[in-house]
Amino acid sequence: MIRKDIIDLFRVSRDGKVRLKNFNPGWMQSEEFEEFGKDALKERAQQVLAQNLADLAEAQNLLYADDRYAVLIVLQAMDAAGKDGTIKHVMSGVNPQGCQVFSFKKPSAEDLDHNFLWRYMKCLPERGRIGIFNRSYYEDVLVVKVHPELVGRQLARKKKPGKKFWGQRYEDINAFERHLARNGTLILKFFLNVSKAEQKARFLERLDRPEKNWKFSPSDLSERDYWADYMDAYEDALSATTTKWAPWYVIPADHKWVARAVVADIITTAIRGLDLRYPEVTEEQKKLLSVARTKLEGEE
Ligand code: AMP
Ligand code: MG
Repeated sequence: MIRKDIIDLFRVSRDGKVRLKNFNPGWMQSEEFEEFGKDALKERAQQVLAQNLADLAEAQNLLYADDRYAVLIVLQAMDAAGKDGTIKHVMSGVNPQGCQVFSFKKPSAEDLDHNFLWRYMKCLPERGRIGIFNRSYYEDVLVVKVHPELVGRQLARKKKPGKKFWGQRYEDINAFERHLARNGTLILKFFLNVSKAEQKARFLERLDRPEKNWKFSPSDLSERDYWADYMDAYEDALSATTTKWAPWYVIPADHKWVARAVVADIITTAIRGLDLRYPEVTEEQKKLLSVARTKLEGEE
């Protein structure tokens, strides 16, 4: 387990404006790890990840048995930050029946015909389940803020979205999340914080390695030109929507294993904090179990 005080380092504070430059994308847990040689580090990383998955599996099992809470995990990041790999890691530790993943791409014409939260509401996790949003309603204050022409028909013709418009979207998101939290959904939001230099290295790897070519999309490169605008939009969104009931975590993502371990660990710790119990067996049920045992044992 990663220590609680370390987890707290990644939680976005509710006082003042978030400054992403204060979060190091290359963070690796303490000097302990920096002293390792490369091979030893890899081995240690494997151990951490394996333990991590065992803990998560146990927490999820209890969540499912208890059946009162749902867990919503929101993953946001720039391209190539490792969202897919992180989901794969987290998912590999849990019972597939207790977990759902939804990826949100560009909205359809039908989506745009509704309020901006509509398409996400339909995909919320049921009690007892973990739901992962690979991109989310936050795109509506991120990519859409960077490219305001994507707003669609919500605004009157020719009007450009301004401060008030975005302020209202943050307000709507906070109210939506508050509603979910009050109704038994634990919400955890992760921004995988990759550096611009590491994104370049990963894009080049996608170009260099034939089996990774499919992952490269020319539009990823054009979005990279808007890096600074995206960082501004992230800072605004994180500052406005990190709440007691739905906190944001900024996850160091330049080392993939670090990001995976930290995300899984935060999820496990948060689920464990929920006061979950296996359903109690009543006296009457105990009698039925005893009858069943007698019957099974009495079989020829
Ligand atoms: P990917 O997840 O890399 O396959 O890409 C999905 C694309 O859909 C990204 O370019 C997102 O920015 C875009 N996208 C996701 N949600 C929205 C949204 N609400 N409005 C506009 N574009 C979106
Ligand atoms: Mg992409």
